[in-house]
Formats: sequence, structure tokens, C-alpha cells
Amino acid sequence: MTNNTPHIIKNDPWYGSYASRAEDMRASEIRALFAVASRPEVVSLAGGMPYLDFLPFDELSELVAKMLREEGSHAWQYGSAQGNAHLRERILDIVRLEHITDAQADDVVITNGSQNGLDLITRLMCDPGDVIIAEDPNYVGALGVFKSFQAEVINAHMDADGLIPESFEESIKYAIAQGKRVKFLYTVPTFHNPAGVTMSIERRTRILEIARKYHVLVVEDNPYGLLSFDNKTYPALRSMDPDNVVYLSSFSKIIAPGMRVAWMIAPPGIRQKLVLANESSILSPSNMSQMTISTYLDNFDWKKQIEEYRGMYKSRCETMDQALRTYMPYCSWNKPQGGFYIWLKIPEGLDAKAMLPRAITARVAYVSGTAFYDTGEGADHMRLSFCYPTEERIVEGIRRLSTVVDEELAT
Ligand code: PMP
Repeated sequence: MTNNTPHIIKNDPWYGSYASRAEDMRASEIRALFAVASRPEVVSLAGGMPYLDFLPFDELSELVAKMLREEGSHAWQYGSAQGNAHLRERILDIVRLEHITDAQADDVVITNGSQNGLDLITRLMCDPGDVIIAEDPNYVGALGVFKSFQAEVINAHMDADGLIPESFEESIKYAIAQGKRVKFLYTVPTFHNPAGVTMSIERRTRILEIARKYHVLVVEDNPYGLLSFDNKTYPALRSMDPDNVVYLSSFSKIIAPGMRVAWMIAPPGIRQKLVLANESSILSPSNMSQMTISTYLDNFDWKKQIEEYRGMYKSRCETMDQALRTYMPYCSWNKPQGGFYIWLKIPEGLDAKAMLPRAITARVAYVSGTAFYDTGEGADHMRLSFCYPTEERIVEGIRRLSTVVDEELAT
């Protein structure tokens, strides 16, 4: 580590004192972009923020006020490290939609967002140098966690049907041949962030077989699974192999990221350790947040709300797809069946990372594909989010982006 490394504050009096695992910590490309991208004149196709204006805030605020009057001394008190029992019961109704029918409330652990869950499972499983197999490209927030525990990420490739089983197996063999311990596969099987693709059912079966063969745990990160555009929900990997999968999902994309409430479902041994890790990390997840979420689930038709979101995100996705056809037909992209993201391949020779400042000047923001790799790859892609801007803004954003790309192509 050198004192002129850009992510280190100049003349930091603690320079030299940090633990080795803190050396490589830095703001993700997305965080660095956040301030600029949230300026109102910029059409942000960058963030993965859900659109919340459909939520019944007026009625909800009255119900939350009532909850506080009646149960305030519970809501504002410390709680259980595993999370609120009532909420864990309610979560079982949600995961049933993804075919998880055997889980009990006791199998569920509440976390402060899935990000916290990723931190917990990595802390439990990985010593420095241990290997995590992850899809290529990979959710940027997970990369940050893996790095902070000094785990080594080995990529496995995807195509339009998600993670390729042969590539997964090759990555395991490669790690073993180097004398490394493979601790888990990290996968976002459904409506992938950033790639937008979904693992087919046949591949789910095959991936689980391979994981079992090599005694590799599967960490299934599934915040988008309910946000399908054709009302189809995929069976969670957890539903197909309960003993070998740790499942994470979250209220962030279906209700409210600001509440920071998510959950994990894990086999008993791992679940017990997760609770202990939660306790040592945060004592207990916020009762106030959990009870606010329960108030919502108990009083509103959350399934109908999710259906409404599906329709809205589908329509925004179609608008983006159409705008890309109109303005940037020389690019290629997947058309997702759910989730928030289009993974756009830009013409050869262009560099999405280098182009970003010019895009910001043209008042449009995206995330360069390089954010989703640890290796500097990905400059030939950008992630475009259609979740937050209105359809009108999406069209305008793509139009602005096309002017930047066109100019690049002309030079
Ligand atoms: N996993 C994936 C794949 C995500 O896209 C996100 C949020 N962008 C998270 C985990 C974290 O979600 P949260 O902490 O809000 O639950």
C-alpha cells in the first residue's frame, strides 16, 4: 500500500496501522457515481433503487403510529439476534412462492439487508486465501465483501441460461489443483445483477449436483426472484437442495430498502452460527424496522403489490428495450424476464469506463461493466437499470447515451 494510492486519504495519521484486510477497501464504482447520478438533471440508469411511489404511505403511517402506541416499548427495545418470530413466520409465506415449502420459522435469520447476510456467511466460511466461485460478471457488493475477508474469487462463466455447469466444475477443479479450498459458490440465479439472465431449471439441477459432488456450499442470493415479468416464479435452489444451500432474500426490492430488513434460510449448523455472528456483529436486527415491515405485511395485500411492481418494471424494461432498438441498434443486449437490469454490450473498441465522464456531461449515468469484475475486465459492457426512472426519462436517457456513443464511434 502506498500513501499516494488514490483511495487513501492524504496524510492519514493511521496510515500503516490498518489491518491487511482493510488495505483494498475502496468505494465501489457505483458509490462513487451516486452523488453525481442523483442530480435531478441527470437521468440515472445507474442505481438499483426500487420505485416506491406505489406504496400506501398515508395508511401505513397511521398503522405504524398505532403500532408504536401499542407496542412501542417492544419496537424500540433490543430484540432477538435471530430476528422477530412473527416476521420469520410471515417470511415463510413469501418463500413458498419460490417453492420453499419445508422451511420452518426457526430456519430463518433476519439480517440488516442481504448485504449484511453476505458479510455474515463470508465471515463464517472464509479464511484468507479460501476460494469463492462466483459468476462472471458478479454483483459488485458481493465482490466488496469477499475482498474484505481476503477470499479469492474464481469466476465461472454465464450465458443466456445463467451459470454454465461445465464452467462451474472447471473452476472448482482449477482451485483444487492449486491446493485451494473452495468454500462456496456465490450465485444470483434469478434475474441476475448485472447480467439480467436467469438460470434454467435443468441447470439448477446440474449445478446442485456438481456442488454436492465436491462438497461445495451454494450461497443463493435472490433479491429479485419475485419480480418476474410473466408471473412465473422459479424454484429457488434452496427448494431443490435444502441441506446444501444458504438462501438470501430481502425486502429491499419488493418493499423498502430503507428498512434494511432481509433474511437468510440456512441448514441448522450454519443457521446457528449465523445467529452467533449476527449477535457479535449487531446484537440484534432493528425491532422497529422489522415491526414496520410486519405491519405492512399484516395489513396490506403484499402479493397484489408485487404484481403491480411486476407490471411496472416489465413496462419500463420494454420501454428501455425499444429505446435501445431505436437509438442504439448497433449494440447488443439481453432482454430480461424480470429484475432491474439490462447488460449492454457496446461496439468494439469503445470503453464504458472511459466514456462515463462524457455521459455525465451529457446528463445520463450508467455503471461501467468494469465495476462487476475484480480484474479490470468489463469495459465493453454497461449496466443499465430501468427500475427507477419513469418511461419518459428512460427514453430520454437512452437518447442522450446514444449521442455519447455516436460521438465516440465518430472519433
Ligand atoms: N444482492 C444483490 C444481487 C443485490 O442486487 C443487492 C442490492 N442491490 C443486494 C444483494 C443487497 O441488498 P440489500 O442489502 O438491500 O438487501
